Amino acid sequence: MSGHLAVVGLGPGDARCLTPEADEALAAAQALYGYGPYLDRVPARADQSRRASDNREERTRAAAALRHAALGARVAVVSGGDPGVFAMAAAVCEEIEAGPESFRLIDVTIVPGITAMLAVAARIGSPLGHDFCALSLSDNLKPWELIERRLDAAASTGFVIALYNPVSRARPWQFGAAIARLRRHLPPATPVVFGRAVTRPGEQISVITLDRADTAEADMATLVIVGSRDTRVIPRPGKLPLVYTPRAAAEVSA
Ligand code: SAH
Repeated sequence: MSGHLAVVGLGPGDARCLTPEADEALAAAQALYGYGPYLDRVPARADQSRRASDNREERTRAAAALRHAALGARVAVVSGGDPGVFAMAAAVCEEIEAGPESFRLIDVTIVPGITAMLAVAARIGSPLGHDFCALSLSDNLKPWELIERRLDAAASTGFVIALYNPVSRARPWQFGAAIARLRRHLPPATPVVFGRAVTRPGEQISVITLDRADTAEADMATLVIVGSRDTRVIPRPGKLPLVYTPRAAAEVSA
């Protein structure tokens, strides 16, 4: 029995952001695995088991879900946003690569979702309208020096930068250090977008300049977009500004 494992992206929060494909994959599952708050977004069903685990237990959760699927069950692992962006799909692949042959016989489907940077960008205009990159500021799985090198490279070559995982209880200083690093490369007026809990209750969007970016604005539910030298802000009376990065870049950014 080979079983089936779906790694399902739930989107940023609002049920309307869940794709019909994700909805189908959840409905077809006999067992659900995931971080508790994400599982809570999926309506409970008597004929579907669910196993909630802690945020940091991604590999353990992936292995448990794979063992269950290897027994012949239809299993779904849920992720916030897109499962391929700093989330469960890579953890599942890591376990398949390291695990027994039986894991390679499982039918694996990755069901994409709307990732946080796209949900935040859509709220404020088009900050990702030209070349951009995404970085996780979590140094749980990589050294801080590597994060600094990537920030330097991205900012100095003109990428707009989406910062995931800016802050957590265990990582209080990293976001401030990242902003200080970016200030070495980018002008003080560079626009910075903070999108908190986007599409969820308590959503907050704000736009500030890099010199005034306050690290207290970010928490675990915040995605930060740091513009490039080309990113523009269009003020609008009584409304949030439109932040966008034009489709063409004229010169090599410093
Ligand atoms: N797989 C997820 C990202 C997981 S990393 C995705 O594709 O979106 C967790 C980080 O994602 C958070 O620290 C935050 O930076 C960002 N994030 C997730 N949901 C968000 C939301 N609704 N609003 C703003 N940021 C969010």
